[in-house]
Amino acid sequence: IAKNPGEVEFHQAAAEVLDSVKVVLDKNAEYRKLKLMERMLEPERVIMFRVNWVDDKGEVQVNRGYRIQMNSAIGPYKGGLRFHPSVNLSILKFLAFEQTFKNSLTGIAMGGGKGGSDFNPKGKSEAEVMRFCQAFATELSRHIGHRLDVPAGDIGVGGREIGYMYGTYRKIKNEFTGVFTGKGIEWGGSLIRPEATGYGLIYFAQNMLHEAGDSLKGKTCLVSGSGNVAQYCVEKINHFGGKVVTLSDSSGYIYDEEGIDAAKLAFVMELKNVRRGRIEEYVAKYPKAVYTAVKEGAASNPIWNHKADCAFPCATQNEINEKDAQHLVNNGVKLVAEGANMPTTNEAIEVLHANGVKYAPGKASNAGGVGTSGIEMMQNYMGMSWTAEEVDAKLQGIMKNIHQKCLHAAEQYGLKGNYMAGANIAGFVKVADAMKAQGIV
Ligand code: NDP
Repeated sequence: IAKNPGEVEFHQAAAEVLDSVKVVLDKNAEYRKLKLMERMLEPERVIMFRVNWVDDKGEVQVNRGYRIQMNSAIGPYKGGLRFHPSVNLSILKFLAFEQTFKNSLTGIAMGGGKGGSDFNPKGKSEAEVMRFCQAFATELSRHIGHRLDVPAGDIGVGGREIGYMYGTYRKIKNEFTGVFTGKGIEWGGSLIRPEATGYGLIYFAQNMLHEAGDSLKGKTCLVSGSGNVAQYCVEKINHFGGKVVTLSDSSGYIYDEEGIDAAKLAFVMELKNVRRGRIEEYVAKYPKAVYTAVKEGAASNPIWNHKADCAFPCATQNEINEKDAQHLVNNGVKLVAEGANMPTTNEAIEVLHANGVKYAPGKASNAGGVGTSGIEMMQNYMGMSWTAEEVDAKLQGIMKNIHQKCLHAAEQYGLKGNYMAGANIAGFVKVADAMKAQGIV
């Protein structure tokens, strides 16, 4: 904490992992002696840079860009780029730290990284978004490479932004390599990559439910967010016969008791991906649904206070606090699986565990996105492409393996059924062993 003052999100992510891996360090004196955890907490490299660009009014805008190259012990740095006004060093370090363990869990050779900017894409014209992406990628291009560091999307960065950044990289470097993932299908992208995080999340939840002889069929689900992860999470829940009753954005949330079926989801996708509108518009189209605006400074988030069986937070960090967790428990929720990164505070996780709720941390349950990015990298390396069915089958395999790894690692250390401990332990041990084998470098 003294070394990284004010980095609250990074402290939070570190505390969670440290708490889980203590049992591993206690059993393996060498991990302690070699200071493997201390080394993992220190990014291999942090790159911070100026991004200046000109808006539609001809005014110069100055933003800050970042790339955190956290850990490359098991493969090239890999992790998304986030464009959101809240972006700062603490948030990106927490994301890069989590990413290292997540990538380790996928079983694909990928190290951990993350990056982004405090640029706010909301309300910007198409031309402004393109100019910003070009300015950002001009500097980023110096620091990435298809065997070095392969960025992808995250909040505020989807196919459109990846396209503009890839175009800039290709022009500067004069080469066509798979240096970004989430590319368009015509220019090196992988089928199923857009769907992968949301689909993977639900495959993971199905594995958790199957373990207890249950399934998603007939389950009522709370989903937050309405972006990439949330949309495909809803699609897959519907596919498995569940019913989703909520969606949100940063302005508020909708509750639709009848469920968000395929037609309603198509409306949300058009609203969010094409018109870039607000979720509030859902109730104008479907008047039986209820919209509730965000109340600044509220002690809890009302989206988590509805009768349901499962909850899938898919918006952003710290959207479920201790009070929200208690509301979930009181409303009968038995499973919480994270689509977002660190959406549940450490206090809230304690409430879920204390009440027997099955809880899956994002580094395990949302790893399908980066897993499929790994598949995209393999296709690019080999100069070939797999069909949607082939990629989907690989994604299902990755999620099943991660599920098993979590259960196995937890059980090995006497923490049966604790997915959080299992994910942290399994993710840590692989990276730690690689670092140990490679010496003090
Ligand atoms: P998108 O930008 O597509 O969607 C983000 C959604 O969350 C939007 O509905 C957005 O609302 C909402 N949101 C963002 N910030 C806030 C906030 N501060 N308060 C309330 N709502 C907010 O991003 P993704 O769907 O890609 O990412 C969602 C989460 O999933 C993030 O935590 C990300 O790190 C994680 N993730 C994403 C992966 C991917 O493959 N895309 C992979 C693994 C994890 P609004 O429209 O108002 O901005």
